[in-house]
Amino acid sequence: MTIAGTDSGGGAGIAADLRTFAACRVHGCLAVCAVTVQNSVGVTGVHPIPAETVAAQITVVAADIGLQAAKTGMLASVEIIEAVAGACDGASIGAGRATPLVIDPVAASMHGDPLLASEALDALRDELFPRATLVTPNLDEVRLLVGTDVHDRAGQYTAAKALHALGPRFVLVKGGHLREDVDVCVDVLYDGDEFTELPGPRFDTGDTHGGGDTMAAAITSRLAHGDAVPDAVAFAKRYLVEAVRHSYPLGAGHGPVSSLWRISDEPV
Ligand code: PLP
Repeated sequence: MTIAGTDSGGGAGIAADLRTFAACRVHGCLAVCAVTVQNSVGVTGVHPIPAETVAAQITVVAADIGLQAAKTGMLASVEIIEAVAGACDGASIGAGRATPLVIDPVAASMHGDPLLASEALDALRDELFPRATLVTPNLDEVRLLVGTDVHDRAGQYTAAKALHALGPRFVLVKGGHLREDVDVCVDVLYDGDEFTELPGPRFDTGDTHGGGDTMAAAITSRLAHGDAVPDAVAFAKRYLVEAVRHSYPLGAGHGPVSSLWRISDEPV
């Protein structure tokens, strides 16, 4: 299940998650948290769904269909975060429970448009991080969550430790925004004991909209198939590299990564 927001441009959010789930051969369920008014240039409207409606989507699907793994993306507000935490408890979703939970701590779009109320950062840290099997912040989200400005690999390690202290079982500090790496993009996975570096090529493209969603959705798909977290993350890294390689221009702004590269010969 994806617990996230919509993007009317179809590049990020729930649309990217469901495409990725399908391409990774899992049936995707969805709990819509917010509708965004968005195109390739930016976000002009954010409309949160009532918190009890978000919780109810999770509860009814878990009770009937059952969930093998879940991820959160754009959660929009404190009320929604609290409702998601409560629904996850009721449905045995979270670290150490039947259904693993991946938290992609979405705070803003790549244009800098806010997707999470500023007062909701505390709720994300306090309510959801302790329940997380894995958190997958980019470096902008790292700065917002633990106040660390990461400039190099050592900084990624330090940030991973600070984030792990907030309660998740695993932390993936993504390196896409690290300027010192010119040709590579290195993500760092930390389990509280060992660090694993996941290197991949860096592509010279602005068309990376929805990349974070696609990565977290690919991880969630492999967790649903029963993979251990390190295997799911290694798969998702390979998946995202191809999705970025096959990204395409759309509109006047940033085009999306191709979350469907795996099932198509065409670059969509
Ligand atoms: N819109 C929605 C609904 C999202 O969930 C996200 C990211 O998770 C974005 C926009 C931003 O995507 P990006 O940072 O790739 O532009």
